[in-house]
Amino acid sequence: MATSQQTTVEQEAVKRDFYHLVINGEKVKSSTGETIKTYNPATGELVAEVAKASQEDAERAVQAAREAFDNGKWKKYPVGKRARVLNKIASIMRSRFNELVELEVLDTGKTIAAAQGQVSQAIEDFEFYAGAIVGHGGSVNNMPGQFQNYTEKEPVGVCAQITPWNYPMMMAAWKIAPAIAVGCSVIVKPASLTPLTTIVLGEICLEAGVPAGVVNIVPGSGSQVGNYLVEHPQVDKVAFTGSTPTGKDIMKKASDTLKRVTLELGGKSPNLVFPDADIDAAVDGSLFGIFYNSGQSCEARSRLYVHEDIYDEFMSKFVEKAKQIKLGDPFDKGTHMGAIIDQDQLDTIDGYVKSAIEDGAEVLAGGKQAHPEGYENGFWYEPTVIANVNHDMKVVQEEIFGPVVVVMKFKDEKEAIKLANDTVFGLGSAVWTKDGAQATRVAKQIQAGIVMVNCPFSAFPGTPFGGYKQSGFGRELSIESLDLYTETKSIVSYFGSRPLNPLGL
Ligand code: NAP
Ligand code: MG
Repeated sequence: MATSQQTTVEQEAVKRDFYHLVINGEKVKSSTGETIKTYNPATGELVAEVAKASQEDAERAVQAAREAFDNGKWKKYPVGKRARVLNKIASIMRSRFNELVELEVLDTGKTIAAAQGQVSQAIEDFEFYAGAIVGHGGSVNNMPGQFQNYTEKEPVGVCAQITPWNYPMMMAAWKIAPAIAVGCSVIVKPASLTPLTTIVLGEICLEAGVPAGVVNIVPGSGSQVGNYLVEHPQVDKVAFTGSTPTGKDIMKKASDTLKRVTLELGGKSPNLVFPDADIDAAVDGSLFGIFYNSGQSCEARSRLYVHEDIYDEFMSKFVEKAKQIKLGDPFDKGTHMGAIIDQDQLDTIDGYVKSAIEDGAEVLAGGKQAHPEGYENGFWYEPTVIANVNHDMKVVQEEIFGPVVVVMKFKDEKEAIKLANDTVFGLGSAVWTKDGAQATRVAKQIQAGIVMVNCPFSAFPGTPFGGYKQSGFGRELSIESLDLYTETKSIVSYFGSRPLNPLGL
């Protein structure tokens, strides 16, 4: 049974043939002996086998997390001590940076440059929360007479954290770091396609001194293990990143036990280029906005709106550069775009492109599977630019999650905002203009959690990240996350000189 004692974990090579579950401070096989095989999407080759958690394993993880939370010492540590452990996690990750990057590239097929940025950010997340937690606390209210009221922030409890395959290491860090910073215990269910770096992060947490049961990692099926955690009465909160349909399902199921829920879901983010923009910067930023991570990005700027006065000039540069994007060896620094996660996703992307063509759209670049030399057994798609669309088409309204951008013209600011907001999603958005007043006006009117102005990047530790509308709710990567992993307790006291006698007895 769970002991919240610290466990000594021997460091193994980051890259190996077999990965265990992490439950109650131990690396264990699954109760059924079943495994998940993970493949390198760039080559189609087997990377490793992973213990596949069963519901019995998930139950053990819940009991361990519960015991560690209810009776363990982690949440009682002085905040500076928890901060030291978070910094230690970051420093171990930093010392194993190249190994973590290599593993992330092999498991996802993304480029080494992308993986380096994402692992760096995962490390910085732990450092950010190690600092942020020290200043996180309650408040004092101005009360009448001799009453007092102060609030305390208490950890919400046991958290199930379910992550997707597009940014495995970064999503695990976004979830684990704030939760354990405030004293919660977590059970992380990584995506079945990309569990490796999350498992290693769980091992690093133990090595850094996180007590047994506080961080548990249970790769397994979403519909079985994920769902089991969502419905479990002893789990207090679910933090989910993934698709909008799964998010809706999770919210319904979590309602039976009224769990706290935060959802980071899909997107179809608009990218608006105004006529006074620096065209070269806007072209390069817009290419990055859609083709980074092979378009498998929740905030991918997949709807490009260009003012009619600059449309021809912008598009000729945009399409020419899109055709120069180099696919191939993910470990080669000269490769611009990596692989697609698997055959299913490749088929989904191709289906969207075919539907656009059937609906009368025009493909200006790409539009089919790619076959980079030496990587013929992997999953690849050409950077694809689609024009001549109307706003009702599936390809304009639905999230594709691949390297496909749809392009449209607009005539003025009012129309640009109307088109940008004509979507069920509201995650990212970008505005390119040199006119600060216009940028401010547009930013205020866009219905999205993030607006990037003349800037291709959105995710920085400290910068709230999350969606409006059907892109979910709750914010990660920032101080706000600490509030979302805590309950506010209000303590009202009376220390007056005369006893209170409200009934007048
Ligand atoms: P997904 O199918 O929704 O899966 C996400 C995670 O949920 C996986 O771990 C999956 O497990 C699990 N899962 C599936 N069904 C479940 C269920 N019924 N109950 C509990 N867990 C369940 O999404 P995906 O295809 O992996 O990821 C792509 C999506 O994530 C895109 O829509 C993207 O926009 C979104 N995303 C959003 C953000 C953001 O911050 N807003 C960031 C990244 C990605 P299995 O792997 O075993 O199926
Ligand atoms: Mg893989």
